[in-house]
Parts: sequence; C-alpha cells; structure tokens
Amino acid sequence: MAKYVYDFTEGNRNLKDLLGGKGANLAEMTNLGLPVPPGFTITTDACRHYLAAGVVPDGLEQEVAEHLDALEKQMGRRLGQADDPLLVSVRSGAKFSMPGMMETVLNIGLNDESVHGLAKQAGGNDRFAWDSYRRLIQMFGKTVLGIDGDLFEHALDALKGKRQDTDLDAGELQGLVETFKGIVHEQTGKDFPTDPREQMRLAVMAVFDSWNAPRAILYRRQERIPAELGTAVNIVAMVFGNVGNDSGTGVAFTRDPGTGRQGIYGDYLQNAQGEDVVAGIRNTIPLEELERIDKRSYDELLGIMETLENHYRDLCDIEFTIERGKLWMLQTRVGKRTAAAAFCIATQLVDQGLITIDEAVTRVTGDQLAQLMFPRFDGGADKKKIAKGMNASPGAAVGKAVFCSERAVELSEQGEDVILVRRETNPDDLAGMIAAKGILTSRGGKTSHAAVVARGMGKTCVCGAEELEVSTSEGRFTAPGGVVVSEGDVISIDGTSGEIYLGEVPVVDSAVVEYFEGAEPEDELVKAVDRIMSHADSVRRLGVRANADTPDDAARARRFGGQGIGLCRTEHMFLGERRQLVEDLVLASTDEARQAALDALEPLQKADFTEIFRAMDGNSVTIRLIDPPLHEFLPDIVDLSVKVATDGATDKDRKLLAAVKRLHEQNPMLGLRGVRLGLVIPGLFAMQVRAIAQAAKEVPGARPEIMIPLVAAVQELESVREEAAKILAETGVEALIGTMIEVPRAALTAAQIAEAAEFFSFGTNDLTQMTWGFSRDDVESAFFSRYLDQGIFGVSPFETLDREGVGRLIRIAVEEGRSTRPDLHLGICGEHGGDPDSVHFCHDVGLDYVSCSPFRIPIARLEAGRAALTYSDSDTR
Ligand code: ADP
Ligand code: MG
Ligand code: MG
Repeated sequence: MAKYVYDFTEGNRNLKDLLGGKGANLAEMTNLGLPVPPGFTITTDACRHYLAAGVVPDGLEQEVAEHLDALEKQMGRRLGQADDPLLVSVRSGAKFSMPGMMETVLNIGLNDESVHGLAKQAGGNDRFAWDSYRRLIQMFGKTVLGIDGDLFEHALDALKGKRQDTDLDAGELQGLVETFKGIVHEQTGKDFPTDPREQMRLAVMAVFDSWNAPRAILYRRQERIPAELGTAVNIVAMVFGNVGNDSGTGVAFTRDPGTGRQGIYGDYLQNAQGEDVVAGIRNTIPLEELERIDKRSYDELLGIMETLENHYRDLCDIEFTIERGKLWMLQTRVGKRTAAAAFCIATQLVDQGLITIDEAVTRVTGDQLAQLMFPRFDGGADKKKIAKGMNASPGAAVGKAVFCSERAVELSEQGEDVILVRRETNPDDLAGMIAAKGILTSRGGKTSHAAVVARGMGKTCVCGAEELEVSTSEGRFTAPGGVVVSEGDVISIDGTSGEIYLGEVPVVDSAVVEYFEGAEPEDELVKAVDRIMSHADSVRRLGVRANADTPDDAARARRFGGQGIGLCRTEHMFLGERRQLVEDLVLASTDEARQAALDALEPLQKADFTEIFRAMDGNSVTIRLIDPPLHEFLPDIVDLSVKVATDGATDKDRKLLAAVKRLHEQNPMLGLRGVRLGLVIPGLFAMQVRAIAQAAKEVPGARPEIMIPLVAAVQELESVREEAAKILAETGVEALIGTMIEVPRAALTAAQIAEAAEFFSFGTNDLTQMTWGFSRDDVESAFFSRYLDQGIFGVSPFETLDREGVGRLIRIAVEEGRSTRPDLHLGICGEHGGDPDSVHFCHDVGLDYVSCSPFRIPIARLEAGRAALTYSDSDTR
C-alpha cells in the first residue's frame, strides 16, 4: 500500500521530491539530533492525487490519524484537549522554496475550552493563550476560509490604536477573539470550526489548494518551477515564542547572503510568533542582541548554525523560536543568495576544505554570472542621494517610482521602466515585482519578503530604507530634507550599496566585465570568478565560439575567451553604401552587367574578411555565405511605389520597382534565401568564396570555414561545394566546407548531407521555427504569452532549446552525420548557444562547440564546465 505520511524520524534531505524541502530538512535536522519539535509530513504524492482527483487518496486520513496518535502519545497531550491541549502547525512545503507563496496555519487545536488549558500550561498566562487563539482565527480565516485578511488586520489596528500588539492585555485579546469570530460568521455564514481534528483536516486541504493559488502559479512560471510537483504538508507540534519576553522568534543566515562573509546575520523579535518577523509588524532587533537577552540560547544557536554549515557544506538559512529560554529549530534550507555571494561562498568553502573546486563550479550558474555582468552606477557621476536602505539584491535600477503592483504592471506594459516602492511587499505584490526594474521598501530587513523574492529573481532591491515615509495611498514618499517623490518621478536605486538617488544616474560596466575585458582580478568577487572560470575551462569538453560579424565583436569575443567564430554573418556587408551595388546586381540584365556588380563587391568583401581574420588571430572563423532574401537589401516597396507615382522618378527607380515586385514573397522566411539564392544567382557565392580565399592568403594563420545556409538536400550542397572547392584549389587556400543544419529535412537526411559537408552547425533559430512551424518574427508577440499561461511550454523554445522536438532532430543529425563521416565537426550557432540549459544539451548530445554572442561567452564557458562535471541530462537549476 502507498505510504503517504512520514514521521520526521523517517525522512531525510534527499527526499525533497516526496517530502518537499521543508519536510525533508526538518527530518534531516531531527536525525542530526537538533531540537526540532516532533511532527510528520504528508507527501507531495498525496497532494498530486488530491489536486487531480479532487479528493484525498484512500487511506490518507487513516494514516494521518495514526501519526497524530503517535504524536499525542509522545507529547503526552491530545490535540485540542480541553485542560492540556497539544497544538500543531499545518505548514506547506514544496520541493523548491516559494517564499510566502503558500499557506501555513499556526495554533491548530484551540477553541473556547482548550484556550484555558493552554493558559494553564503556561502557568496561568491568559494573555498568551488568547493571543494564540486570535492568531489561529485570523490565519485560519484568511487562508482556509478565504476571508479578506484586511478585515482582521483592521479590527486589530482599531483595537491597538497607537499601541503595539504586545501592549494588548488578556481581556482585550479575548474581546478580539469574539470580534474575529464575528467576522468569520459574517463572511462565511458559519461559526468558526471548534473541533480540533476538523480544523486540522481543513487546514491540510487548504495547503494542498494553495498550490494552485494564482500567485503561486505566477511565481512558478517566473522561477520555471514545474506546475505538477505539488506541495507536501508538515504537521508540527507548536512551540511558542509569544509566551512573554523570555520567548521570541527569529530568522538567520549562517553567513551574509549578500556577500558570503561569515558573521551573525539575522533578525529576532521578542514575544512574537512565526510570521511576525518577516511581516514587519514590529521592528526586529539584530540577532547579535540575543546574546544579551538570552546568552544560553544564543550560544546554542551559533553552535547549531555551525553544525548545519558543516553538514550541508553550504550557506543555510534558518527559522527558530525560543519558548521560555528553550531553543527550537523550525526550518532550515540551503539559503538563497545573491549571485556575488554564490561565487564568493563557493570559493570560501573550497578554502575551508568543505568542498572541492569541481564542486564549487557546480555551485554557481550561468544565470548568476550573467547577473554579475549587469552594469552598475557610474561612481564619478553627479548623484543626488536622498536616502540609504539595505543592499538586499544587487544591481543598478533606474525608473519611474510607482506605489502599487497594478500600476507597475500597467506602466511596464507601456514600455516604461519602473521602480516599485512599498512600505513592505507581500505575496500579492508579485506581479508588480516582476514588472519592475527594481524594488524599494521602507521596512523589513534582508530576510523580508521583498529581499528574499528579489534575490530569487535576480532583481535589484533596496529594502528597509526607514528614512523614507512611504504613503501608498497618496502615491508618494518623503525623504529626509523634505524631498518628495511622487508617482512618475524618476529614481535610481543601487542594490549593491543600498543607496537611493533622485533622477537618473548613468550606469557603467561591472567589475566582472572589466575583468573579462582584461583587468587584473582585485576584489574578492572577481578573484572568485577568476578561479571558477579557470577551473570550468580546464574541465569542459565543449569549445566556445562567438557569433561575431565585425572586427570589434571578434576582438571582444577573443577577450571573453571565445575560441574562434562559429558564425560570421555576411549580410551586413551588403548594406550601407554597398546597397547600390546590390541594386545593380539585381537589375543586371546581362551576364556582363551582373559580373561587373559582383566584381565591384569582391574587394570590399575581401577587406571585411581580412579584418576579421586578423582579429581572430589564428582561430577558426566560420563564415556563412549570404542568407536573407535579396529584397531585404532593396528599397521598400511602398516608398518606391510612391516615388515612381510622382514626378522625378528615374528609369532605374521604375526598373527597381519592377524587380522588387518580382522578388516579393508571401513567406520570405521560406522563400528565395540561403543556398537557394546562391544557386539562382550565378557567381554570387563564388564571389564570396573568392573574397574569403584572397583574405585568408593575406593573413598568415587564418583558418576560414565556409558555411552554406539553409541546405535541405545534399544536391544543393554538392553543387555549391564543387564550385567553392575549385576556387579554393585555384588560390591554394585550405578551408573546411560545411553546412548549417536548420531545415528539418537536412537533419533527417544528415547521413547523405555529411557526404558533402566537413562540418555541421545547427542553426537552431530557423530549426526551431521550421520544426514548430512558428514564424519567429510573429508568434512571440502574437500568442506566446498565452502558451506560457496555459503551460503548453514553460519557456519559449526560441530561448531554451526544445529537447523533445528540435533536440530529437539534432540527435538524429549528430548520429547519422557521424556515421557517414566520423570526424564530422559539430557545433551550434543559434541563440541557444548561450542559454545555460541548451549548453547542457549540447554537451550531452556530443557537439564539439557552442557559438553565441560575445557577451554570453563566459556564461557558455561556465555552463560547459558544469555540464562536464555533472553529466546531467536534466535540469540545471
Ligand atoms: P513559510 O514557508 O512561509 O516560511 P512556515 O511553514 O515556515 O511558512 O511557517 C510560518 C512561520 O511559522 C515561520 O516563522 C515558522 O517558523 C513558524 N512556525 C511554523 N510551525 C511552527 C511551530 N510548530 N511552532 C512555532 N512556530 C512555527
Ligand atoms: Mg507561509
Ligand atoms: Mg518558513
């Protein structure tokens, strides 16, 4: 029979798929002997079953009852027992952490009787008991019964007035419980459920359901978390941080998630429960101060943090509660961190002997490296600093201040850059956070919702800027000195320093980019990047080349570690002043006239290639012969028609218009382009090959490779190849001749095509377009967002290579091509060459190199190293 429930003593950290991250790590801590309140986990299997079938699986209720029984025996109390109640929390917990996205209900088991029993347990502390009870109704009402949480908040605020929640006495809290019950009755037409087991059952289902709450769906899409995983549910015996001032609750990191530096990083709140710390209802105190308040618990906590770091061999974040001087661990996980911290921590752990340098490479990602390559503010620029907050998530963001999520979404849809400014964020702000360039809050620390979520998204965030008076209702904030910023005013925020500026501050390259450009590594971060990149280079099997069309790009590609050019497009060489020559070519009515146009183009092309060969300094340069349809180089049909219709049009204009009309195509992407053009216009490809050969002769060590685009049949390739080979032989230049594989038919007939090709380069932009039948220029704006919403794919196939379809064609072409020609050289030159997941695919499928834009080269190098170390065929998150 299926097992749906695991006691904390049964699980471990490797069971995240089944127990979720929280459950797996609670079990791991339990087994390490750390003080975790007892409890058990209902598996994600049960959740998936419930979400699919609408009912919990057979046997689940029985199993939960048995585990609850065992828990009650262990604790010596029964759930909700009137004179001496056991209370539990019901907590969500998915495989990947989704901060604040799903539900948790604390203090389950309280009702009008057991509230007295709870007071008795705490030595007659009525205040604490009623405080716990009002929290239960509030959380249960909001998350299980779906009541608007503001109704409870407003009732609480009205009672508090200017006081803090801790100033409310037992009688007031008891009154608040009555008010809350009234809200429940009014909103649902029913009484608050008082049966403890019923409370628990409803809470479990609410946690299951929260998996499909809109904000959870949005978060998963943003973070590319699969929708089918489901969440586990943890039932944990309650411990109480709200008993009095010898109690409290806190969160901490084992090292700074912003820089990786070791030290004490956390927040603590006395006489408080669970969510209070992150919700920012009162100002937290820095964790160091706990030493003064409760030295024994503090020392124990530091010891546990060290144990966890050594055990997980990584930065951990934790949640803990102190109940009357006794420390309890409520959660841990390998903590989210900024990209900079990821690199620093990885190398620090190597130096501490906790991990190997191989492992360090697998601990950082190409996406993180990409973040470090973002620009930052220009240090020399004139800036008007108006305030400073905490540097919660790095980067430089400039945009118009907006004060609510809806407005952020609206303006960003209109193409505006916005900074979302809030007192604090909550999960309902997610859409606005995604839309914004940066996030600024006036409350909350590095562990607040805004900070955690922004770091996860790699979005610039400054939090806890307490000098700012934010009024969301009036749509403005006030900074010290009377500066007022209203909606629409431009501000700049620096997530690396925490500084906030009025107006737009210019941005400059990152230090990491400067390092790639050749600067000596100086600070800790750049040194860490240097170490990790060097090791990635030493272990990777894939070569990394650049897509570069100009000498500048080629030079940058070399500096960034590119080992040659995998795609040098030649079409831009037909633009500008040279359009004239292309027009002559198209209009030529005799062989002589055509040849004259080609002869005029040849020396210009030769000069282009000479420069690129020089820049690439003996590395391979794969030159693609002209690809787009000719009409792209001719004047626009509408402009030309207008011109011809008015006076002053020349004879040439009229001829040109006729030619443009003749060349007009319904589907240019599928029309006269690539090899087809080369076969239809005699001498065009020959001119290009001759220019390449002449240029190669002039640059010692040049290594040209000639690439024929859009081949679908070996016959096309053969005829171009023959002509090209002859020219090469005449000039005495050696060059490989190969083809792009970008038409499905080419992939499917790769065994034949390899007879005539010395290399294949997968042109995955066109291959994706033609495999899916998606017109690249149209579909993304037309309906991709729908497709993403409906989960037809989790990410655009133009962004991350579609392994199942396009990937299958590539596999076929690799295998069959190599069966014909074992030394066939294989690469990829579509945009996918710089996408982390796609790089792993290229490694797995056995390509020789990837080629990508110069700025993506470091990312491809790193991911190629990671692919060689993990041999992973699956996800790279
Ligand atoms: P989240 O996933 O949003 O962090 P949690 O399930 O961790 O939600 O719970 C929310 C808060 O309640 C946390 O601060 C947690 O430490 C606290 N909490 C959860 N279970 C208990 C418990 N059994 N006793 C005391 N506090 C708890
Ligand atoms: Mg929660
Ligand atoms: Mg938590």
